[in-house]
Amino acid sequence: MVKKKDSDPNALVVEPYGLYKMLPRLDKVLLRYSQDNNESYDEYKDIQDETTQDIFGVNEPKRFTFNPSTSSVCVRKEGYRAYGYKPEPSSIEGIIITEIGKAAHRQLLNIFRRYIEKSRAEVDVISESPPISGRLDLLVYNHLVKEYQVLDLKFIGIYPFKKLGRSELPQELLSTKDIYKPSPDYEDQILYYVWAQRQKGIDVTCANIIYFDRDSGKRKEALIPWDARAEARVANFIENKIKPADILINEDLHRDIPREEKRLPEPSVELDYLCGYCNYLKYCVPGQKIGREGLGHLKKERAPRWVAKTAQERAEKMKEKAERLQISQPNLL
Ligand code: SF4
Repeated sequence: MVKKKDSDPNALVVEPYGLYKMLPRLDKVLLRYSQDNNESYDEYKDIQDETTQDIFGVNEPKRFTFNPSTSSVCVRKEGYRAYGYKPEPSSIEGIIITEIGKAAHRQLLNIFRRYIEKSRAEVDVISESPPISGRLDLLVYNHLVKEYQVLDLKFIGIYPFKKLGRSELPQELLSTKDIYKPSPDYEDQILYYVWAQRQKGIDVTCANIIYFDRDSGKRKEALIPWDARAEARVANFIENKIKPADILINEDLHRDIPREEKRLPEPSVELDYLCGYCNYLKYCVPGQKIGREGLGHLKKERAPRWVAKTAQERAEKMKEKAERLQISQPNLL
């Protein structure tokens, strides 16, 4: 490597081993990889459109499809994605952490799929109206109660891991030890998967999210029964978040106006620190305000009172069923 000498800026100093250093070059590879990955959705959609034209001879106007994982964090992000805003590249450390998480995720899914009978891994979940497409991790058949559960694995950092607590759990879940309140973004995502499976007639009775602390390997589990509370939450996600964003984005997507004039959905983020991690923060004025002032100024949706009552009744029915089937699992309770 050649650099200018501090004392005499015109004199050049040669550091021969600097020429052989690999880390700066590998960092460039990772940044390039991360950029390609961010762009791959649009490229993939373009290839699909061209193929549809080739094999069916028709060219349907391109419709934007929502991703449950992005939408559950904030639907405004979907607007930036739809209109082709370039996401800020992650830091090298961020890319490496993400890749470690992806590799561990893939490996654990392989193990669970091989060992748990009647489980199905990476099931595509698609709904047409509104257009949403994603992939759930694992559909597990519970042989005790003869019902399905949707299981999702999340690898997270120590800060969000520590924030997972039990204090806001509904009353009927508090008597079960070692289950935690899920983070609101993942809750929307996994409940959408449960809802979509049930639409297909698959009897999914609850959702489980297993959180892994990426540093220590520690785990925490969130369990979300499919009850009135879950139904109200997923209805709110689809009706009040995705549907209005779908109308807005798909109306403006093909309008011949500058990108800056295209309408973006209102933020739906429920945890203010997520704006700090958002790759669109530099474009997003409301997100910058949330980062400074928190979420206090945004209205929070509250489920009506009858929802909690009906959820409690369902918990009673599940208890009766367990007693009727004479299921006792002292090691699990
Ligand atoms: S910065 Fe915050 S409000 Fe803006 S798109 Fe990202 S998550 Fe949503």
